[in-house]
Amino acid sequence: MLRVGLTGGIGAGKSTVATRLAEHGALVIDADRIAREVVEPGTDGLAEVVAAFGEDVLTDDGSLNRPALAAKAFADDESRRKLNAIVHPRVGARTAELMGQAAADGIVVHDVPLLVENGLAAHYHLVLVVDADPEVRVRRLVESRGMAEADARARIAAQASPEQRRLVADVWLDNGGAPDIVLSEVDALWADRIVPYEANVRLRRVRPLPSLKPVPHDDTWPVQAERVIARVRAAVGPKGENIEHIGPTAEPGTEAPDVIDLRLTANADVTEELAAAGFPRDPEDPPGLHRGADPGRPVTISVV
Ligand code: ADP
Repeated sequence: MLRVGLTGGIGAGKSTVATRLAEHGALVIDADRIAREVVEPGTDGLAEVVAAFGEDVLTDDGSLNRPALAAKAFADDESRRKLNAIVHPRVGARTAELMGQAAADGIVVHDVPLLVENGLAAHYHLVLVVDADPEVRVRRLVESRGMAEADARARIAAQASPEQRRLVADVWLDNGGAPDIVLSEVDALWADRIVPYEANVRLRRVRPLPSLKPVPHDDTWPVQAERVIARVRAAVGPKGENIEHIGPTAEPGTEAPDVIDLRLTANADVTEELAAAGFPRDPEDPPGLHRGADPGRPVTISVV
């Protein structure tokens, strides 16, 4: 199963992109919807919220009064922790349950508005960020969702910045233009990267060897390496002692083949953990060498 994280600021076009990915066959898991479901009337989640915060967080019809809960739960850290302790485990369990329903060759798209804010990027094989200029997003939220303009601006200001989202984006989808533009990008991404990536991970196949012709230095190489490092760390856990970006792409200013080279020092066998995270081993490669399965990002990892 390939796990794709999808995020972006409110009104940027996550739902639009998610719908298209679902049409291609992805299993879309909507984090916001799950967060609502676990506190619907009749759930033990809602019963616990009421036990913790009182009956006055309910509306007359017995559903959650979100503004009333927010006023209480976000008043101080202790209250916030209390609410998170009720909601987070339930969201986690439901998300795992839905992911468990994906086929072995399935592609799961996890639509998570707060992916960056909650530091979740490293747990996906690929992270897609949908972006559009804040003014464009305000206009869309006001015109098509009927949100008050001040509300739209406040929501945007409270979320991660475009710079923070850039750091985690393996794929940056600019949805500032007509919907057809981003949708055709999504179509190409699905066919050229996501589908072959899933097959590569499932079959433990590395991506084809890239051209080793040097290209001009890319200033984003170190940031790209950090993303891969975070993924590797999440995959190997305490078995990994140290991981670093090495080789010519780590040298400022130098031309290099477009391959991110990493060196991982491990205290136990991590072959399977790396393979499952998208860095399998080709049996023809020298021992200890893993390579990326993502058709869009050549990576080598030397495990010592
Ligand atoms: P998000 O899920 O990121 O909050 P949505 O996909 O719901 O964003 O998009 C916000 C609103 O803008 C929706 O009403 C959607 O139909 C509309 N929208 C999305 N993309 C575009 C676009 N490229 N041009 C115009 N309107 C768009």
